[in-house]
Amino acid sequence: MRIKGLIVGLVTLLAPMSLSAQERRPHSVLVLDQSDGGPFYYQLLSSLRGTVANHPDEHVALYSENLDLSRFSGPVFEASLKRYLKEKYQDKTIGALVSVGAATTELVVKWRDELWPGIPVVYAMLDEMDVARLKRPPNVTGVINHLPLAFEIEAARAVVPDLDTIALVGDPWNSLVVYRNWGDEVGTAAAGLKVIDLVGQKLADVRQRVAELPERSAIIYSAMFSDGEGKFYLPSVALGLIAERANRPIITPAETFLVPGGIGGYVLLPRQIGEEVAGVTLRILDGARAAEVPPVHGGVKPIFNWPQMQRWNVSQSSLPAGSEIRFRDPSFLEKYRWQSALVAAALLIQAGLIAFLLHERHMRRHAEVESRKRMTELAHVNRRATTGELSSSIAHELNQPLGAILTNAETAELILKSDNPDLGEIREILADIKRDDQRAGEVLRRLRGFLKRTPFETRDIDLNEIMSEAFKFMSVQASARNVALYLQTAPNALRIRGDPIHLQQVILNLVVNSMDAVATMPYGRTVIGRTELNGGSSAVVSISDSGPGIPADELSRVFDPFFTTKDQGMGIGLSIARTIVLAHRGQIWAENQHGGGAAFHFTLPLAA
Ligand code: ADP
Repeated sequence: MRIKGLIVGLVTLLAPMSLSAQERRPHSVLVLDQSDGGPFYYQLLSSLRGTVANHPDEHVALYSENLDLSRFSGPVFEASLKRYLKEKYQDKTIGALVSVGAATTELVVKWRDELWPGIPVVYAMLDEMDVARLKRPPNVTGVINHLPLAFEIEAARAVVPDLDTIALVGDPWNSLVVYRNWGDEVGTAAAGLKVIDLVGQKLADVRQRVAELPERSAIIYSAMFSDGEGKFYLPSVALGLIAERANRPIITPAETFLVPGGIGGYVLLPRQIGEEVAGVTLRILDGARAAEVPPVHGGVKPIFNWPQMQRWNVSQSSLPAGSEIRFRDPSFLEKYRWQSALVAAALLIQAGLIAFLLHERHMRRHAEVESRKRMTELAHVNRRATTGELSSSIAHELNQPLGAILTNAETAELILKSDNPDLGEIREILADIKRDDQRAGEVLRRLRGFLKRTPFETRDIDLNEIMSEAFKFMSVQASARNVALYLQTAPNALRIRGDPIHLQQVILNLVVNSMDAVATMPYGRTVIGRTELNGGSSAVVSISDSGPGIPADELSRVFDPFFTTKDQGMGIGLSIARTIVLAHRGQIWAENQHGGGAAFHFTLPLAA
């Protein structure tokens, strides 16, 4: 009873301890791989090491052994390996074993009871067939990389759409550590295809054979470690030598085979496998039992090499869904993404600005056209008013030739009544009548032209001519109002671009205003017009008078619309004159002369 009680007590005491021992394992790992030391295993181990090193709570000690099973085998080698591991690690506490590759895993499971009793095993790089071959040993889990030959044949069909032949290249199936199950799959996976079996052949022979493969074929490469003549290679190096000669694309099953000459296919991803196996191992070190951690599936993806795709004319759309393409030169947009975005944004802003400015310009043009239309309408009204004022001088101008015509006609009648009419004289009279009629016609033509409702139109004109015509128009009115009207034009023609009717209107408005101004003067009523060159680029027109001048405080207002100091004034003459001058890209201003009287000046740019 006492012993039984003691046992019960001990069990009760030890129970939590043994439970906790079962939960957290010593944080040290022995990684055994069958690698060749090539880039694939290097990447796998370094990502495994990196992931383990990042373990947050506790440092994990990591030992690693390279069993080199691709190049060494046999019972003697295995026995020496086992002895070496036993002696080397006898004093080390190992929390978990990581075995990379099917052959390694088989040895580790076989030796575990003797070398590392009860220690969990985490495998990597096994497929389902390899795992089944282990026959469910206890305390074993890991990462399954499902990469059957059928996947690579699918990749071959994507690369060569009318595929009818595959050439298999690599070491003998049973000496392969990773793809050895492909040997058993050939019959089913390659059904319907012709198979050129170069497996296990010497590298030199393979190089010869792959140079003369038929048109609709692809090479499927597993891995070649030996040239069959005693030389060992890294499989990636052997692949490069084969690719040098191959006349068809080479489907390759490892990410690290993409560079030496493979077009790609479904590939094993060493870094991802390293991370996944490290994840499972850490869970076990942290207390999970291997039986509770189901095997992880992953580490395989379809990846293709862009330059090889170009070489073999393979389009992206024919690749298996989810394929990744490597080594493609980034497009300009991909390469300069943010710069392109900036340029695009700048272009957009610029385009917006241009659109806005064009709209503005359109609106301004529209407004200009509208205001010009208004101006010509108003100018027309103003002209009619001016001609109203000038009606007496117009009547006078018409009366003169009409009167002469009448007198001449009457004289001709008298001559005809005589017995011996002088036909020569009659002829002269008729010529006079004709000339007077033309003069009257000319007056009417000028008047009609002046009164026409014309749109604003510019053409090449001589400012002197415009000025002379306007002054001629005013001459009768001037003498009726007892005003001496003088004109001094520049000696040479002043060629400008302008609308003659509108410019005459400016001159007329200024002259009429001057005549109004001098009307208050009892004597010495003078209005002088002048045209001059103003430097080399413009002409200036001046109308000055001997009137009272403009009071200083009104000087700035005379051009305002509706500003008038006259009883019957409308106050639009000067404002119209200014609008017309501005429309000709000129300037207009008023000033008082030193000797008295006002002077108005306006400039116009000379025609180029
Ligand atoms: P309106 O002749 O109908 O008054 P304007 O716009 O032609 O309209 O002239 C505006 C005003 O400018 C005139 O009422 C007058 O006071 C002043 N003005 C124009 N020309 C002269 C001038 N030569 N001398 C003095 N004042 C002038």
